[in-house]
Amino acid sequence: MKISEVTEQTEIAKLKPIEEKLDNEPLIPKELIQTLLWVSRYYHHPLGECFQTALPKLLRTGKPAEIETENWWSRTNKTVEKKIGSKQQQCLDLLNDYPDGISQSQLKHYLGNINTSLKSLETAGLISQQQKAKLPIARNELHFDLELNDQQQNIVENVWKKKDQFQPFLLEGITGSGKTEVYIELTERVLKDNQQVLILIPEIGLTSQFVDRFKKRLNTTIVILNSSVSDKERKQAWLLAKAGLAHVIIGTRSAVFTPLSQPGLIIIDEEHDSSYKQQDGLRYHARNVALIRAQKYDIPIVMGSATPSLESLYQVKKQRFELLELTQRAGSAQLPKVRLVDCSQANPDHGFSDILLKAIKKHLDAGNQVILFINRRGYAPVLMCHDCGWQAKCKHCDARMVVHQHRHILFCHHCGYIQRLVEECPECESSSLKSYGAGTEKIEQHLQQLFPETPVIRVDRDTTQRVNAFSDLVADIKQGEARILVGTQMLAKGHDFHDVTLVGVLDTDQGLYSADFRATENLAQMITQVTGRAGRGEKSGEVIIQTEQPAHNFWKTLISNGYKKTAESLLQERIEMALPPASNWAVIRAESADREEATAFLEAFSAQCHQQLAEDVLILGPVPAIMEKKGGRFRAQLLLSSAQRKPLHQLLDQHISVISRHKLARKVRWSIDIDPVDI
Ligand code: ADP
Ligand code: ZN
Ligand code: ZN
Repeated sequence: MKISEVTEQTEIAKLKPIEEKLDNEPLIPKELIQTLLWVSRYYHHPLGECFQTALPKLLRTGKPAEIETENWWSRTNKTVEKKIGSKQQQCLDLLNDYPDGISQSQLKHYLGNINTSLKSLETAGLISQQQKAKLPIARNELHFDLELNDQQQNIVENVWKKKDQFQPFLLEGITGSGKTEVYIELTERVLKDNQQVLILIPEIGLTSQFVDRFKKRLNTTIVILNSSVSDKERKQAWLLAKAGLAHVIIGTRSAVFTPLSQPGLIIIDEEHDSSYKQQDGLRYHARNVALIRAQKYDIPIVMGSATPSLESLYQVKKQRFELLELTQRAGSAQLPKVRLVDCSQANPDHGFSDILLKAIKKHLDAGNQVILFINRRGYAPVLMCHDCGWQAKCKHCDARMVVHQHRHILFCHHCGYIQRLVEECPECESSSLKSYGAGTEKIEQHLQQLFPETPVIRVDRDTTQRVNAFSDLVADIKQGEARILVGTQMLAKGHDFHDVTLVGVLDTDQGLYSADFRATENLAQMITQVTGRAGRGEKSGEVIIQTEQPAHNFWKTLISNGYKKTAESLLQERIEMALPPASNWAVIRAESADREEATAFLEAFSAQCHQQLAEDVLILGPVPAIMEKKGGRFRAQLLLSSAQRKPLHQLLDQHISVISRHKLARKVRWSIDIDPVDI
């Protein structure tokens, strides 16, 4: 019998009596169980842990799956006979607008503290109360002021034609072309049909801008599932979605497991974003899972991006996804001009070229905002002794310690190891220690010195740890209080800052040299996304990119032909070299405090697979990971690749249980990563 089936009879002779019925209806609906069975099979991960990942914490721990309720008030038929107070009158006026009643917290949101007024009205028999599901508070001002342009309208119609069937759409729209407006319009239509929309967004500090736009436009129950939501709210949102009482569900990766009773549409914003892939435990990709769910529900799924992943472009090529394009910026905004500057002209200490500094001054003088990207937090990536050549390295990792000047520490970004910032070389006691290279802290400090009158804001993981820190910073940026913004990629994603006219990218070259075959794809995405931050409003923008290789072909293609052509040529390369997405990969990773053990386990794994190897499957390794030592453990990996998906999965199915019983399997920490994104 399969787990998903219930039968009338059983072969098991003695079944135990049921002690207690935990829930009145099954906690997990059938469709979600089927999805989780698929997830468990596809990712070769224990089913129990798949359920754990899918359920909100409070439901995992056996708490009753009951929706939290609250008082709802509604108007009775009784007419007002004698004069009542003004607060009471306000309550009645409002309740007259809500024939189905309104929750106490929503009433309070509109009218302030009204407990005594409610009591008097109830005593007078003018209103009555009942318990109903507690819903998130909705705002009251709605704005409907936007008319879609022809391209947007066409896209909406195209999706709508496939409204009642499974159809994946890739919505490729340059930054600022109005993808979000398309999502909103589609959502509005689905809501009119009394169905629900599940929307996935990347895991970034800020989701509120995106969510606010939905809240402003849709008069409906919207629930949010991201890291800032409490366990209690998460459980409530999950149950409301399951009961069909939440109509729009917006969340990050794990929200892909939210049950829906009236599914109408799934949307994935920034579908290329790497946060959709979980990097530990159940290493699922939310885009994959979302596709399976849409298929089971028989509904369309829209995946949007200005810089689609090569995976999705490959599916378009194979005609499994339908491509929809937005090629122009919405409204009057124009795409910015892009310029490359040779890094050799940059000051080796702080990393700025004269050209970039002059441009910053020009844009500030014109009263605009400037964004500077550097994909490295901290003050400087290297601390070195001038006399003996000593460098600060992490004792647990094959990595350098990064100087964090503000906190006066050396910090390993890979394992989190922290040391006090040394003043003296531990090898030769010389005091001529010098830091090299620049991170966000150093850039911020330098700009503050150059422009002492201009407020500078730094946005990176260090300045955004506090809850709401990110939204506070963004509010400052939007209100124009910060004129210079220094940040990591965090600042690149999706924000709409209208006064930014200059974007500077300080250091880009790791992307061109990396051993990871995805590095160029990621660099092209990053550059295109940050470029999209300039000139979003009425004013036109400019982008300056500093690189050591201005003549590199990559730049030529990207700058003269744009992301689309770059992605096409990268995809062609992948196909020719039989790399993903043109082939299927699984990586087996092992780590151990003992360097030999990790490798020995993977050798055993490989030998086991070789006993019965399908012709199509290739096994490479084991090889040490690119950073072999991390957090005090040695890491190695084995790569399995196959042109067809099936033989690869069959091979894993066949051998995993044998390998799990290997004596080293219990000594090393090992995992299977299907469709790995970082290797
Ligand atoms: P994307 O999601 O593709 O980056 P947005 O939906 O955020 O694009 O749109 C970019 C900007 O253009 C926003 O300020 C949005 O309000 C505006 N916009 C979008 N569509 C239209 C339209 N049809 N008419 C006028 N302005 C629009
Ligand atoms: Zn020294
Ligand atoms: Zn470390």
